[in-house]
Amino acid sequence: MTTPESEARALSQLLEQWTRHVAEVGAKCALGGDEAWDNVLRELAVDPLSKEERLRHVSEGPKRSRGAVPIELRWAATALYERGRSAARAIDLKITGSDATIDAIEHKLSSLVDEMLRAHIAATTPPVTTSNFFANAKATTPNYGAMGVGPGTSVAKCTTCRAPRQRTGEMRPCTYCGGKLE
Ligand SMILES: [Zn+2]
Repeated sequence: MTTPESEARALSQLLEQWTRHVAEVGAKCALGGDEAWDNVLRELAVDPLSKEERLRHVSEGPKRSRGAVPIELRWAATALYERGRSAARAIDLKITGSDATIDAIEHKLSSLVDEMLRAHIAATTPPVTTSNFFANAKATTPNYGAMGVGPGTSVAKCTTCRAPRQRTGEMRPCTYCGGKLE
């Protein structure tokens, strides 16, 4: 028999599976995405960037070794968050009092997007080894000119993906991952 408590457990498992699926495909797919990643976005009803925008993110954003562009990973994680939250709320309405599984789901959801982004950046950042140290240092230096950041400009860095951005009065989220600036 289906009870709200068993629905909560099923939701918890589903969320776990989906989080893993998005993280795995997102990190393992070709640089800038591929068909497998497009399928993930489609299943989550997320509109991808255009081909041109993806190429621009790959060439102008912080260097990645592989994987989906961070902003699309954020959108996928946000879609998971929204679906998870509305499903959890719907189940919670049917439960009298509080339910430990729903509480755990809500807790997981509260940091889901940030944690998925952090894990994605960590998984797709090229490792620094002695043999690639100098090449890597050069490759990871972002193309300031392409971002419209002139020399001598005060640059703010994204706290999530480390992309530099021009410091202006208005602090909008990072173009490449949607993260906050420091
Ligand atoms: Zn960023």
